[in-house]
Amino acid sequence: MKIFKSISSIQKYLNTQNQIAFVPTMGNLHEGHLSLIRKAKKPKTSIVVSIFVNRLQFNNKKDFIFYPKTLKQDLEYLKNEFVDAVFIPTEQEMNINHSEFKLSFFNLDYKLCDAFRPGHFEGVIAIVMKFCNIIQPHYLFLGKKDYQQLFILKNLMQAFCYPIKIIAVPTKREKNGLAMSSRNSLIQKSYISKISGLYSELKQIKKICKSLNDIKKIEHKALQNLTKDGWIVDYVSVRSQKTLLSPKNNEKKLVALIAARLGNVRLIDNIEFCI
Ligand code: AMP
Repeated sequence: MKIFKSISSIQKYLNTQNQIAFVPTMGNLHEGHLSLIRKAKKPKTSIVVSIFVNRLQFNNKKDFIFYPKTLKQDLEYLKNEFVDAVFIPTEQEMNINHSEFKLSFFNLDYKLCDAFRPGHFEGVIAIVMKFCNIIQPHYLFLGKKDYQQLFILKNLMQAFCYPIKIIAVPTKREKNGLAMSSRNSLIQKSYISKISGLYSELKQIKKICKSLNDIKKIEHKALQNLTKDGWIVDYVSVRSQKTLLSPKNNEKKLVALIAARLGNVRLIDNIEFCI
């Protein structure tokens, strides 16, 4: 496994490769990340994983400072997965502080994480575009866990004609249903008994939602249940898989999305279903 810290050195290596599959991460790797890597394995394909805690996507400074960093263990995991190349650039190498340009959205108004984390997706797209321009992958592996991120990046790649195929990978969960996340290690012990509640509510929504007329009532009930159980809920929302907006008339493919906090830790999760 080769480790690169500079753009020039990884590009020199990539020039010698056939197909490139890229898995961007912020490190503190877990089975969720590894499932993306396992999906990316194909003959004659070089797997490149980046580890970069992207300051630009943290709308909360404390969240950035306390984001778990476990580089030594991450590299061990990646070696065991036979990853070809790891890219670990510094902020300076990624030139994140350039002041002349700022990417922005036109009418980003889904009232999901875009509303609750102002500036977050601007930070995500800035860094993913940079990585994609540096690495020029054929395939980009992203988790469904970050559903709105996946949705935005798919649209972005299409809108700006990136010749990159996005592969969406299902969410890996703990035995109790909790979606694996680097933030899980930050959840206080006193909340452990509540953590499976998020996925339970999502499963319940999937089970009882039989028509678009049910949605408002179901969203409200899930919000009530979570709040009663000590969660501070940003949103519970059932959306169209295609538009990520409220589903219209005949839409059948839906996704329920929740963002909620237990103490200081904000978790997101979602479930796709059809009616
Ligand atoms: P992160 O390191 O949190 O930025 O995540 C890097 C990539 O891993 C993103 O595409 C995430 O959606 C994906 N990911 C994170 N957690 C999971 C999970 N539990 N299952 C599948 N993919 C995940």
